[in-house]
Amino acid sequence: MSDLIPPRLRNDCFAMPQGVTWVPVDAALDRLRAVLHPVTATEDVAVADGLGRVLAVPVTAQRSNPPLPNAAVDGYGFAHAATGDGVQRLPLAVGRSAAGQPFDGALPHGQALRILTGAVLPDGVDTVVLEEDCATDGQTVAFDGPVRAGANTRRAGEDVAAGAQALPTGRMLSPADLALLTALGVARVAVHRRLRVAVLSTGTELVSDPTITAVPHQIYDANRPMLLALLAGWGCEVVDLGHAPDDPAEIADRLDAGALGADAILTSGGASAGDEDHVARLLRDSGTLSSWRIAIKPGRPLALAMWQGVPVFGLPGNPVAALICTLVFARPALLALSGAGWRQPQGFTVPAAFAKRKKAGRREFLRARLNDAGAAEVFASEGSGRISGLSWATGLVELPDAACDVAQGNPVRFIPYAAFGLSFGG
Ligand code: AMP
Ligand code: MG
Repeated sequence: MSDLIPPRLRNDCFAMPQGVTWVPVDAALDRLRAVLHPVTATEDVAVADGLGRVLAVPVTAQRSNPPLPNAAVDGYGFAHAATGDGVQRLPLAVGRSAAGQPFDGALPHGQALRILTGAVLPDGVDTVVLEEDCATDGQTVAFDGPVRAGANTRRAGEDVAAGAQALPTGRMLSPADLALLTALGVARVAVHRRLRVAVLSTGTELVSDPTITAVPHQIYDANRPMLLALLAGWGCEVVDLGHAPDDPAEIADRLDAGALGADAILTSGGASAGDEDHVARLLRDSGTLSSWRIAIKPGRPLALAMWQGVPVFGLPGNPVAALICTLVFARPALLALSGAGWRQPQGFTVPAAFAKRKKAGRREFLRARLNDAGAAEVFASEGSGRISGLSWATGLVELPDAACDVAQGNPVRFIPYAAFGLSFGG
């Protein structure tokens, strides 16, 4: 008879093992931040092709916006010094100033000129009165004084002056940035080459072709389309390394391929310490695994390592944990690698539309969405295999490392997916 004694049952599979040092999320982020630097070369692109690209040098305004003083409304322009209090009657000059069709010459003092929105103010005009505030018979313009000097005009360079810095290094160009640079006469910009990120799924149970009928003990590879789409949305060039079974030689081959063609690698699955957790084992054997046991839920295990000099994010296999670890750890890291600089998502405080008690020691991210009253609801189940909750959510509620007892209406931090650069969801 064996005298084997079973361990005491634990009903929480996420209970923190005793005697292990768990790295707080912020400490893990700080370590990542300290070691990652931009890796990409620079190239020149047309501003119109610059969406989502990261500026490699600051951009200087080539001309002022607006380039010349101009009218902000349709109306009549004149020299303010020629007007005073009470009803003003000014003779109307012949001609007009319209956008793209400036008035030829200077306006004589004491006269008024028809002027349209965006038209350059000719010499002799520094103030414009709104058309609706005037009466005219074609010869004279009448309006009530006093009028404020400079009313309804835009000063040259009042937005940005020529020679001023328009955008700093590291800026990821938005549609509004393309408008700004174009207005400032900037045609081309130096940007970082797109970051190339490889994605590998691991797990013998996975079927990567959704047109193949999976047998019951198999599951479809849900992580790869999610991660590839996420990275493409972040402006990365994606390298699809496919899916490898739980076989160390095969995983090593794929990692080699990834290291050759990519600046960073995301793997999912096999990152823990189980019999078939070959990603973690390979990274440990290659001597570069920073085996960070990070105090995050969901997300254990997360293996952060270098493979042939290329950073690898060994994500957990569970799609919920894989996505959350990608958002929390991989995104700021990829931004740093891409030259955009380390950036944390901006969350905001909203009332909780839920109640929850948590123990100290681990930061928790809950799948959440805002209800019509602006309060955060959380997904009914916290199970990290519940992909439907990821899809239901429009963001995450972040609960602090410390113990907390959240009651309905208490303030909680909500981070919309959009703050992670995700333009979908909800
Ligand atoms: P692992 O991290 O390998 O222990 O996997 C944790 C759980 O996630 C297991 O139930 C896996 O079957 C599942 N899983 C792993 N990879 C994927 C994937 N690519 N798509 C969907 N589920 C996965
Ligand atoms: Mg596995």
